[in-house]
Amino acid sequence: MGNQRTRFVADAMLGSLARKLRALGFDTEYYKSGNDAELKRLASATGRVILTSDRALASLALARGAKAILVTGNNDRQRILSLKAGATRLRVPLARGDPLCSMCGGRLERVARSDVEGIVPQSVQKRHRLFYACTSCGHLYWRGSHWKRLRSLAKLLESS
Ligand SMILES: [Zn+2]
Repeated sequence: MGNQRTRFVADAMLGSLARKLRALGFDTEYYKSGNDAELKRLASATGRVILTSDRALASLALARGAKAILVTGNNDRQRILSLKAGATRLRVPLARGDPLCSMCGGRLERVARSDVEGIVPQSVQKRHRLFYACTSCGHLYWRGSHWKRLRSLAKLLESS
């Protein structure tokens, strides 16, 4: 659709946040290996906003004209708030799309409950009605307890 998701590339220290951002509907690449120079090149080549917990890297990227947000905090709640403040300062709009696979960033598709039979534990299958599969890696999702946590993170983004 017309809604252009905000695109991030998160550095190796921010793996947990990267997974949450995908689930929240942001196009997020997780850069778990390689050096800072490559990360900056990747960001400028792809137009992604760099998320890093490395103050020096954030300043250097900004000085070179890349968009970089310094993300601080000891948990994902704090990191989301830090990201939001940084995005406001840089005037980066935070546009979310449909939830993406937290493992690989792939698109999710609804699957029938009968299709997950024998794949997810029976207790899960009984308690949940909505299942989603990643079209890239096949990972299965359902609205479990993580869903509530995600919604509370989403609220942090929405409130001003
Ligand atoms: Zn996936």
